[in-house]
Amino acid sequence: MVSPFNQPPPVLGNTYHSDPVLRPWLVRVFSARALKAIEPSLERMGAIAGEELYPLSLEDLPNEPELVRWDAWGNRVDRIELTRLWQRAERIAAEEGVVATAYEGEHGSLSRVHQFALAYLFGPSSDVYACPLAMTDGCARSLLDAKNGELADQVLPHLLSRDPAQFWTSGQWMTESTGGSDVGLSETVARKDEHGQWRLTGRKWFTSAATSQVALTLARPEGNPPGGHGLALFLVRARDEQGRLRNIRLERLKDKLGTRKLPTAELWLDDTPAELVLGMNNGVKNITPMLNITRTWNTVTAAGGMRRAVMLARDFAKKRFAFGMNLEDQPLHVETLANMEAETAAAFHLSFEVVRLLGKKEAGEISDEEMKIWRLLTPIAKLTTGKQAVAVASEALEAFGGAGYVEDTGLPTLLRDAQTLPIWEGTTNVLSLDSLRAIAHTGGARELLACIEAYIEGTNGDEALARAGSQALDAATRALAWLAEAQTGGRESVEAGARGFALTLGRATALACMVRQAVYSTPRGDAHPRAAAIRFARLGVNMLKSTDLEEARLLIG
Ligand SMILES: Cc1cc2nc3c(=O)[nH]c(=O)nc-3n(C[C@H](O)[C@H](O)[C@H](O)COP(=O)(O)OP(=O)(O)OC[C@H]3O[C@@H](n4cnc5c(N)ncnc54)[C@H](O)[C@@H]3O)c2cc1C
Repeated sequence: MVSPFNQPPPVLGNTYHSDPVLRPWLVRVFSARALKAIEPSLERMGAIAGEELYPLSLEDLPNEPELVRWDAWGNRVDRIELTRLWQRAERIAAEEGVVATAYEGEHGSLSRVHQFALAYLFGPSSDVYACPLAMTDGCARSLLDAKNGELADQVLPHLLSRDPAQFWTSGQWMTESTGGSDVGLSETVARKDEHGQWRLTGRKWFTSAATSQVALTLARPEGNPPGGHGLALFLVRARDEQGRLRNIRLERLKDKLGTRKLPTAELWLDDTPAELVLGMNNGVKNITPMLNITRTWNTVTAAGGMRRAVMLARDFAKKRFAFGMNLEDQPLHVETLANMEAETAAAFHLSFEVVRLLGKKEAGEISDEEMKIWRLLTPIAKLTTGKQAVAVASEALEAFGGAGYVEDTGLPTLLRDAQTLPIWEGTTNVLSLDSLRAIAHTGGARELLACIEAYIEGTNGDEALARAGSQALDAATRALAWLAEAQTGGRESVEAGARGFALTLGRATALACMVRQAVYSTPRGDAHPRAAAIRFARLGVNMLKSTDLEEARLLIG
C-alpha cells in the first residue's frame, strides 16, 4: 500500500536561542558581566519552554481542570484538580524564580528585567500558568507598597519562595457581576465579628487561579459610602491548615473561549475571614500596585505569545511545500511572516521598555520624568500589545492553512488564549481612558515626546532608519496635538477618540525603541532590528481616526 504524505509538525528548540530579539536587547541593556551571570537561567528556561513544556502541553491538550464539589461521603469539598502541565509548571515557576527573581535584587533595577525575561520565555509554554504568577507578583508588590509589615512577614516568604513545597500563589478577586471595569459598584460587604475578625460576604464573578492559597480582594466595610472610595483592600487566606476552603464556596468554573487550563471560578464568600491590608477605604487606589504589575505581565505575555506564534509559523514554512517550493521561499508568504515578525519585535520593545522603567521605579532609581512616562506607558503598552497579540495569533493560524484550525495541532489555542489579553485587567477602552487620566493627573505626554526624540537620535546617514524615527516622532506629536484640540470640544470628544490616541502613542513609542535598538545593533553586525523598525514603520503607527459621535449614535441606534 502506498503510504500517504504526512506533514512534519512544527518543532521548537531552545526558545532563548531561537529568539532574534531578546538577546540583542539584553546585550544592550545589561553589562557583559551581568549578562553572563543571568544567561544560564535564561538558557535553562528556553530549554524548559521549548523542549520540555511545549511537547508536554501537546500531550496534555485534551485535559482541563476539574471542579470536584463533593467527596464520596457527601462532604462538600470544592477541590480543583489541575492538569499535568500545571502541576509541573508550578514547580518550575518556584524553582526558577519566575516571581522571586524580581525581589531578590541581585542585579538592582535589572532584576525586574531578568525576571520578566524568564516570564517571557516561560509564559507561552505554561498553559497560562503565567496568570497566577502575575497575580502573585502583584500581591507581593501590593503588600510591600502597603508597608503592612505583619502581613508581609507572614505571606511574602511564601510568594517569593523557590521551594515548591513552600511556594504560594495569590489570586486577585475584584470583578463582580456588577462590573469588572467599574469595580466601584462592588457589592461585597465587610463586617467585624464579635472577636474583631473581619468577615466578607458577596460573590466574586471572575477569579482566575482559584487554587491560590491567598488573594487580594475588595469589599465595602459596613457604613462606608458607595463607589471605589468606600471599598477597602483585604487579604484572604483561602484555605485552612488541611487545605480546606475557609467559608468560600466554589460555585462553578467558567466555561471560557480560551485560557481553558486556567481554572477561573465564580466564588461565594460567606463570612469569609479576611485581613485588612491598608486603611478602611480607598481600596481601588490601594490595589493599584497589583494592577500595574498584572498589566505588565499581560504586556509581556502578549509579546511572548506573539513570539511563539511566529516561531511555529516560521518553522512550518521551512517544511511545508506548495507550488514547487517551500513556503519560506514563496514571496507573499515571506512578506506575511515578516509583517508578523515586525509586530512581534515592536511588542517586545514596548513591553520591555515598561519593564525597564518598572525596575528603576522599584529600585528607587527612576527620575521624575521617567516616573511619569512609566505611569502613562503601563496602560498604553498593555492595550497596544493586547490588540497586536490577537492579530498576530490570527495570522499565525492562517499561516498553517487548515492545520491552524484543527484542535489537536494545539494551534487554535494560540488565538483563543490571545483573546483574553485585551479583556482582562482593563479592556482597550478602559485603558485608553486611563491613559488620559494619567496625563491629566501626573502628566507624562511632554516627557514621552522628549523620550521618543532622544531614542531616534544617532541614525547618522541611514535615511530609511531616520525616516522611521521621524515617523514615530511625527505620530506622537500629532496624537498630542489631537488631544489638545479634542479637549476644546469637551469630555465626549476626548473620550470618543481615546483609543486612536492611546494606540498611536503605543505604536510610536514601540517604533522609537526599535530605532534605538537598530542604532545600537546595526554597527555590531545584527541587521534584524533595523529591518524590523523600518517594516514596522511601514505597517503604520498613526492610529488617529476622526470621530463623529452623532453619526456613531445614529449607527448603533
Ligand atoms: C480569562 C479571564 C480571566 C479573568 N480573571 C479575573 C480575575 O482573576 N480576577 C478578576 O477580578 N477579574 C478577572 N477577569 C475579569 C476581567 O478583569 C473583566 O472581565 C474585565 O475587567 C471587564 O469587566 P466586565 O467583564 O465587567 O466588562 P464591563 O466592565 O461591563 O465592560 C464591557 C465593555 O464596556 C466597555 N466599557 C466599560 N466602561 C467603558 C467606558 N467608560 N467607556 C468606554 N467603554 C467602556 C469595555 O471596554 C468593554 O468592552 C477575568 C476575565 C477573563 C476573560
